[in-house]
Amino acid sequence: MNHENSRAMYERALTLMPGGVNSPVRSFSAVDRDPVFIQHGKGATVTDVDGNTYLDYVLSWGPMILGHSDPDVIRALEKALQNGTSFGAPTEAENMLASMIVDNVSSIERIRMVNSGTEAVMTALRLARAFTGRSKIVKFSGNYHGHSDGLLVEAGSGILTQGIPGSPGVPESIVENTITARYNDDEMIRQLFKEQGSEIAAVIAEPVAGNMGVVPMTMEFAQTLREVTEEHDSLLILDEVMTGFRLAFEGAQCLYNIKPDLTCYSKVIGGGLPVGAFGGRFDVMKLMAPKGPVYQAGTLSGNPLAMTAGYHTLEKLVSNPNIYQQLDRQTMKLERGLRTLIEQYDVSATVNRVGSMLSLFFTDQPVSDYESASKSDTDMYGKFFRGMLEKGIYLPSSQFESWFLSVCHDDQVIDQTIEAAESVFETMFK
Ligand SMILES: *Cc1c(COP(=O)(O)O)cnc(C)c1O
Repeated sequence: MNHENSRAMYERALTLMPGGVNSPVRSFSAVDRDPVFIQHGKGATVTDVDGNTYLDYVLSWGPMILGHSDPDVIRALEKALQNGTSFGAPTEAENMLASMIVDNVSSIERIRMVNSGTEAVMTALRLARAFTGRSKIVKFSGNYHGHSDGLLVEAGSGILTQGIPGSPGVPESIVENTITARYNDDEMIRQLFKEQGSEIAAVIAEPVAGNMGVVPMTMEFAQTLREVTEEHDSLLILDEVMTGFRLAFEGAQCLYNIKPDLTCYSKVIGGGLPVGAFGGRFDVMKLMAPKGPVYQAGTLSGNPLAMTAGYHTLEKLVSNPNIYQQLDRQTMKLERGLRTLIEQYDVSATVNRVGSMLSLFFTDQPVSDYESASKSDTDMYGKFFRGMLEKGIYLPSSQFESWFLSVCHDDQVIDQTIEAAESVFETMFK
């Protein structure tokens, strides 16, 4: 494979942007390789600037559930484009996307559109604090909720101690109200609420974590979160930025059968354009300005192009519920193929999967939280990643990210992927 043009563009980019990218994971630094620059995408594939085509399991980190350049979405966007791109005034496109969600997701009574997942979570927490009149929030180690200051927290060695800043530039005073607890640890969260429940505004959680690799919540833990928050008049906020409209139209909350007070969205909701959103209970949402006193605004929020891409993506999902069965079946096929290879080559690895989200962890222990995920051999993942890339399979450039499938990942795509994995395993483990 020739990567000449990517290399030249990356060298240029390095002189323009820190690390040559506009979001760190794109740099491939965790897998010790230069990134490839993408020229275009179609269906399950992306093609780089040197003309190499890959089967894509990144899908823009989740949004492209219909595959790249879905003809219906593109057509709708072309039409919307003729009317102009932004007005900073209400448009019908906002009603269309909002009603798509309010009508089809039972926990969402009101919704507000923003531009990213980071923004959605940041505002949902402000709202939860305003509603409860409390300051503390609880998050779980290994869960990612965007890069706003209060959520860039490391758990430190003594989990359940006050947060310590997870990045230079985040003052201690900002994270002192963020408590980090262990994912899937029922006892810890119960204990925490017993001690500090009356000060906790909200618990925020990824119902299926995707940002430490795929780690599902246990059914029991989901119930526990709903119970303890209710008991202590705290809010439960599900961060369904990754899982919303992906695992089911109603997201993971439908699989776990729990009703959160607030839900955060991004990724699939924008169909590949920048959209974030948060929504939920009417009595909470009505505190948002201009109806209520909690301030939030956005020059490009509800942008007509973004609303159009989101609407037409969700429209296809909602009108074709078989899509989720199909995604599940194809991803299961990939999971089985990988498991067979792991056994055949006697590799220390394990696969986690929920619906069309999957991770291959290079550890022989089950992965159920941040601690167990961290035991993975990241050098081995890097080697696997580089081998797969050379075989034309574009995987996430980190051990701790989810692989995503689209409706365009048909049998042939899966077979080709398993074949590639076999030949990479052959060179790595024979
Ligand atoms: C991607 C992601 C975010 C951040 O969304 P951005 O649009 O990148 O700001 C937040 N939470 C979860 C669970 C995510 O996967």
